[in-house]
Amino acid sequence: MHDVIIIGAGPAGLSTAFWCDELGLDALVLEQSEEIGGQLHRVYNPINNYLGLKARNGEELLGRFTADVDNADFDLWTQTSISSVDLKAKRVALASGEDLQSIALVIATGVRARKLGVPGEKEFAGKGMIESATRDRELFAGQDVCVVGGGDAAVENALLLSNDCPTVTLVHRGKKLRARPEFTQQLQTVHGITVFTESVVTRIMGEDQVEAVEIKRKQGLKPFQVAVRGVLIRIGVEPNTELFREQLETDAGGYVVVNSQQETNVPMVFAIGDVSNPVGPTISGATGAGATAAKVIASRLNAK
Ligand SMILES: Cc1cc2nc3c(=O)[nH]c(=O)nc-3n(C[C@H](O)[C@H](O)[C@H](O)COP(=O)(O)OP(=O)(O)OC[C@H]3O[C@@H](n4cnc5c(N)ncnc54)[C@H](O)[C@@H]3O)c2cc1C
Repeated sequence: MHDVIIIGAGPAGLSTAFWCDELGLDALVLEQSEEIGGQLHRVYNPINNYLGLKARNGEELLGRFTADVDNADFDLWTQTSISSVDLKAKRVALASGEDLQSIALVIATGVRARKLGVPGEKEFAGKGMIESATRDRELFAGQDVCVVGGGDAAVENALLLSNDCPTVTLVHRGKKLRARPEFTQQLQTVHGITVFTESVVTRIMGEDQVEAVEIKRKQGLKPFQVAVRGVLIRIGVEPNTELFREQLETDAGGYVVVNSQQETNVPMVFAIGDVSNPVGPTISGATGAGATAAKVIASRLNAK
């Protein structure tokens, strides 16, 4: 029996565990991946917006987190697959057959990149699918590429790629790009970016490597192909809530609904970080929410 079981070891989950130690609570963190850190592994850009701390990228910031985490006293199990969770009973069943029990549960499962779900997307992973413009731009220098999406991340990545790639085809299904004006205004001045709005990529094609994308315009009759060697998809994220969705209140997008104390509608079940923050997900928001949850749990347990 643990005081707290935390599901997910991204910034939010790690912060809760760190604070649990600070407050004298016995915490266990369950992480499905081999490594802790969550999305920090995908942040290749410099992090300049974490108050008081700068890092060249997510890995560097994670290194700072890990230094503190290593000195804290809590249990952390990586590569742990959860088969089911009973939120009311605070019971977690692992795929290994083990059953765990706690007084409080903290959901810190974050979000994952949304997939396009078209033929070729999975098949060309590592064979022309671009993970990040910051990381991969040198690899794709001199090649024509396609970016799918219309938000900040898509347009920012298209702009970055246009520095090294002769042409960038930006495909967005909406009527207007959703990105901030600071990004869309730059599109007017940059050469080599062609924007297709009200259009979707229906197929990623090639032999061993990406060679083309098939695009279907809303108004167009026939799909057409554009020759590219790389495809980057930035069409948003979705919350990792499948394990719990039936047992607690979520919004229309599947994000867990919480109050200002990070409480869900199930007593002693909390949700923190991106999984409960559809509007303004940040590292500082995630670590802050983790601290709040730990403090609220400590006050509840001390009051008993
Ligand atoms: C490219 C990129 C750039 C970014 N740049 C910035 C920036 O400059 N500044 C900023 O503040 N934020 C930035 N962010 C956002 C920031 O990374 C997130 O807000 C933050 O990581 C959220 O932390 P989290 O712990 O809530 O979730 P995550 O980081 O998503 O971590 C969730 C963890 O839960 C684990 N998990 C999921 N499901 C289960 C399960 N069933 N069982 C066990 N474990 C599970 C996952 O494996 C993961 O380790 C960026 C994100 C990206 C992708």
